[in-house]
Amino acid sequence: MKAVTKSISIIGLGPMGQAMANAFLKEGYSVTVWNRTVAKTENLASQGAQVAPTPADAIRKSDLTIISLTDYAIMYNVLDTAKEALKGKTIANLSSDTPQNVRRASEWVTRQGGKFLAGGIMVPPPLVGAEGDHVYTFYSGPADVFQQYKDDLAVLTRPDYMGSDVALAMLYYQALLDFMYTSIAGALHGYALLKSAGVPAKKLEPYFSNFLAFLPELFASSNTADEIDQRTYYGEENNMFMLVAGTMHVEQASVDAGIDSSLPKVVRQLFEVAVKKGYGKSGINSVIEAIYNEGAERSKLTAVEK
Ligand code: NDP
Repeated sequence: MKAVTKSISIIGLGPMGQAMANAFLKEGYSVTVWNRTVAKTENLASQGAQVAPTPADAIRKSDLTIISLTDYAIMYNVLDTAKEALKGKTIANLSSDTPQNVRRASEWVTRQGGKFLAGGIMVPPPLVGAEGDHVYTFYSGPADVFQQYKDDLAVLTRPDYMGSDVALAMLYYQALLDFMYTSIAGALHGYALLKSAGVPAKKLEPYFSNFLAFLPELFASSNTADEIDQRTYYGEENNMFMLVAGTMHVEQASVDAGIDSSLPKVVRQLFEVAVKKGYGKSGINSVIEAIYNEGAERSKLTAVEK
């Protein structure tokens, strides 16, 4: 165990908050915790964490308090009696929510005289404190505040700073979750399709694994990010006319199999919008034109990420 040199407070001890507290304890931090359900503090207390009787006491104990609650709305309830304690302190909220709610929370904490960082942690609890390219957290908020605490935050995961607009971390986080949720839903839909013919999921699994390994190559060879940024979509080998027909086949196969067909239907509709917008001869990346609305109000993002 390293000598105690630094202190950290953690509010919220779900599986994520517990993992965070453990990671700081392992690094020799003086850790103060608060949780609504006191029983969840017991294991940490037996390992040396201090249990604060109130959220305000937890915040007073350290310059930096990490919040790990189910969502941002709970933060206001929990900190309602801790407003005074926030003065001069920093809150890093690593809970999940929407970018707009992050902005509101940042303004609220700042109004109380505190500083605010938002974080979107990209790993499940068992990987907190682990090494690896995939072990990171998106952060946003004032650059000087991030610089001040980045070494402490690095105890949890690699801290990736995305910019001073406090909502950015959550936007990156949501973009990754968007990818994750839809791809997992797509895979589950594929399993259901095979299951309808009595094929066990295990038979399809190796093909899915193989496809996952091939995805980076697919993204690179179709220049996805470049094509999106340049708004040119190469379609020589597989254009949207063909791809719409392909999505119709998946949708109809699902209907015929008697399974839910809402997911392929949405995909087919998006592909059709791209064709209606004139991208029939373009490639699959042109579907972004059916999703991204050029006329939508741009969020007030600062541009570190370019
Ligand atoms: P949980 O929802 O399991 O736990 C969150 C905490 O919120 C608990 O401490 C719980 O207290 C507290 N809480 C909930 N409602 C209230 C309330 N009304 N008043 C006071 N406290 C309340 O979440 P996790 O620990 O799994 O995750 C925390 C955050 O991290 C979430 O925003 C999640 O989206 C995000 N996250 C989680 C990941 C994961 O794999 N778990 C991965 C990446 C991000 P109590 O113990 O008293 O119920």
